[in-house]
Amino acid sequence: MTISQLSRKNVQSLTPYQSARRLGGSGDVWLNANEYALSPNFDLTDRTFNRYPEPQPQAVIEGYATYAGVAPENVLVSRGGDESIELIIRAFCEPTDSVLYCPPTYGMYSVSAETCGIVLKTVPLTADFQLNLTEIERNLDGVKVVFVCSPNNPTGTLVKRSDLLKLLQITAGKAIVVVDEAYIDFCPQATMVNELPNYPHLAIIRTLSKAFALAGLRCGFTLANAELINVLQKVIAPYPLPVPVADIATQALSAQGIEQVKQRVEEVLTLRADLQKNLENLPLVEKVFESDGNYLLVKFQDGPKVFKALWEQGIILRDQHKALGLANCIRITVGTKEENARVVEAIGEVRVI
Ligand SMILES: *Cc1c(COP(=O)(O)O)cnc(C)c1O
Repeated sequence: MTISQLSRKNVQSLTPYQSARRLGGSGDVWLNANEYALSPNFDLTDRTFNRYPEPQPQAVIEGYATYAGVAPENVLVSRGGDESIELIIRAFCEPTDSVLYCPPTYGMYSVSAETCGIVLKTVPLTADFQLNLTEIERNLDGVKVVFVCSPNNPTGTLVKRSDLLKLLQITAGKAIVVVDEAYIDFCPQATMVNELPNYPHLAIIRTLSKAFALAGLRCGFTLANAELINVLQKVIAPYPLPVPVADIATQALSAQGIEQVKQRVEEVLTLRADLQKNLENLPLVEKVFESDGNYLLVKFQDGPKVFKALWEQGIILRDQHKALGLANCIRITVGTKEENARVVEAIGEVRVI
């Protein structure tokens, strides 16, 4: 047998997550991964590189707990929000259980479930990108984890709070509901954190990759009741956070760091409104969807053509043409003022004959 044939069957049939970086491209305008355009600057203050780090660095846990308005026992820190997705599946799903999610949405729910060999169930979002609760309820048999992304990547939509509450009610005692709040810092009033005391099966995913402008740090969080956090503690790697990561995360979560996040969010929201208005004026644009994140989903007359034309000029966007229900759509991260202007100008020059 070849080495590939020796690997697990579900791994043999796996396609790795098509991350922005993996998709490649060469350019000078990178608006395909919902990153912040500029890097914040930090100095290392902890140089104990010879020692293993704290498994759950206290300063990071306390800093994030304060920021999120929960107790430290409600916080788990991990190697990005992506690790949290996999930890939840590994901790809660038997091979015979299934995971349910609602496309079009973030790709890592299916990748992590498939890696673990767990059955996937999908219930597409409605035409206005909301939950189809009737269909979800009909498909809950054997489901251990339900993933809901709000604001949803790539649509930008917030899932209705009343629907999330109904979902929590119909899954109580049966399944974990994961609300992925990777973009919640751009619309903090919409968080489900205040529902944690009411729902022991609610888990909320957060990250420093988006509004904190630290995607390179690989630092994310799970917020949940202590019992759920303790279950995840059993399956997480012993030292998930390198010393330099904990050091920088602690600084990013200081009062001054949080103040910078708030300013950055204000700036991104202003730039997003300008970008939306300028895109709506272009003849090739059919629709710019309302967004609560740091990105816009845009529907074109000919999406693949626009994507390719900009790609060839070194403007790298995220094609959504193949995502469920998103034919001719492209996701555009809000960049700097100059980057946004270049995108609008380049799209304005594309000719569809
Ligand atoms: C970016 C993102 C995450 C987490 O990203 P990490 O960089 O692993 O923290 C999780 N969910 C969604 C929807 C995202 O867009």
